[in-house]
Amino acid sequence: MAGYDYDLFVIGGGSGGVRAARVAAALGKRVAIAEEYRYGGTCVIRGCVPKKLYVYASQFPEHFADAAGYGWTVPEASFDWPTLVANKDKEIARLEAIYKRNVEGAGGEAFHSRAMLVDPHSVYLVAEDRTVSADQILIATGGRPAPHPALSGHEYCIFSNEAFDLKQLPKAIMIEGGGYIAVEFANIFHGLGVDTTLVYRGQEILSRFDMDLRRSLHEMMEKKGIKILCHAVSEWVRKTPDGRLDVLLSGGRTLTVDQVMLAIGRIPNTENMGLEGVGVELSKTGAIVVDQYSRTNLDNIWAIGDVTHRVQLTPVAIHEAMCFIETAFKNNPTAPDHDTIPTAVFSQPEIGTVGLSEDDAIKRYSEVEVYRASFRPMRHTLSGRDEKMLMKLVVDGSTRKVLGAHILGPDAGEMAQLLGIPLKAGLTKDDFDRTMAVHPTAAEELVTMYKPTYRVKNGERV
Ligand SMILES: Cc1cc2nc3c(=O)[nH]c(=O)nc-3n(C[C@H](O)[C@H](O)[C@H](O)COP(=O)(O)OP(=O)(O)OC[C@H]3O[C@@H](n4cnc5c(N)ncnc54)[C@H](O)[C@@H]3O)c2cc1C
Repeated sequence: MAGYDYDLFVIGGGSGGVRAARVAAALGKRVAIAEEYRYGGTCVIRGCVPKKLYVYASQFPEHFADAAGYGWTVPEASFDWPTLVANKDKEIARLEAIYKRNVEGAGGEAFHSRAMLVDPHSVYLVAEDRTVSADQILIATGGRPAPHPALSGHEYCIFSNEAFDLKQLPKAIMIEGGGYIAVEFANIFHGLGVDTTLVYRGQEILSRFDMDLRRSLHEMMEKKGIKILCHAVSEWVRKTPDGRLDVLLSGGRTLTVDQVMLAIGRIPNTENMGLEGVGVELSKTGAIVVDQYSRTNLDNIWAIGDVTHRVQLTPVAIHEAMCFIETAFKNNPTAPDHDTIPTAVFSQPEIGTVGLSEDDAIKRYSEVEVYRASFRPMRHTLSGRDEKMLMKLVVDGSTRKVLGAHILGPDAGEMAQLLGIPLKAGLTKDDFDRTMAVHPTAAEELVTMYKPTYRVKNGERV
């Protein structure tokens, strides 16, 4: 080990890489990290953080409208996109500096450079034009939006990366995709006053979520004025003489918009960094193949986060980093636990969810009880907003274990975080029932649904 420049070299300064570098350095290891773009990675620079700030921005028109029922007169509001972008830039620059400082503060060395593997113990730093050596190497290079080269006119389209920094807010946008990024951006743009159309090839938005929530959110988004076209794809995109974009959709319909955003998936960043040459195994989709401990097929090379295409979420990348530290540096082999991950979709209204959807539970359990409540949350009584909240618990009929909890409505993401604890602990519906309600809240519904709304036995609703 003494013969190497570093004990650990981390490639990629995002959520996973920075955590691993910082913690390893704090353990007294000689650590370096290379980031080719900006420290903080996708989450801080062009993912979770700016996205959530834009979600907040886009919610104000509804807050202004809702205020009237509570006695407020709100003067006509106006919105300035460049101000939002500039304030967002300030905040992410602040976070970026903290990320880098945290690594250096712990004793690590942070490079601003693209890094490439030369051999299993050597990394070439492009910006420095030099090669360094390390005992262990961790690849945490994340992913990027999947391109769509087969789409004629794809060069006119943008991805989530560009959507954050548009010079002007478009008057009309088409977003292609049905995953959470597409759905969140559709809500953001609509909330900011943009005429928004969501185009998705599947049968219903947000596959892998509970169908009840998917359908209900779809309806609510349409009610707000977002156009959603399922079973549709774009066939070509063309520039019009006045600089707008015409999009031909399957089925023959044409849209004219100012921007087309593609959110059709994400691909791992594994190209042109020497992986094939060194012999690191990649999957068919280009993701780095790892074992249960995040180790690649080479003994001293590891990979965590989005680049491994397991679960693409920031807390998961961080958890994988912490498990890697245990395994590689603390002699305590620890496999990341990807079971029962709470998650949110920051749509409007929000989705918060943890555990099995009703459909998945039915496939795995012979008797499932569904507790379901749909109600107008108190905050919408005086505001007059015609929007219902949906809560649902999916329970194993034989053991009473709560298998899934699904919420659509204000603050659903916050509730999902807390519901993650009882579901991870394997608590039963009886534990929920004997928990005192907090009144008056929307969340109290979760502990007051005493009777199943319906049961499903061997796939049949009874
Ligand atoms: C629009 C959007 C919204 C999202 N919202 C959420 C959310 O609400 N909640 C959530 O949990 N997750 C969200 N995510 C996902 C989350 O951002 C990722 O799961 C997370 O950032 C993955 O962390 P990572 O460390 O694997 O990779 P990243 O954070 O992507 O970091 C990888 C870093 O490696 C750098 N890099 C790549 N190649 C090299 C190289 N060869 N040399 C040097 N550096 C390199 C990249 O520049 C990048 O900074 C969102 C993602 C997007 C795109």
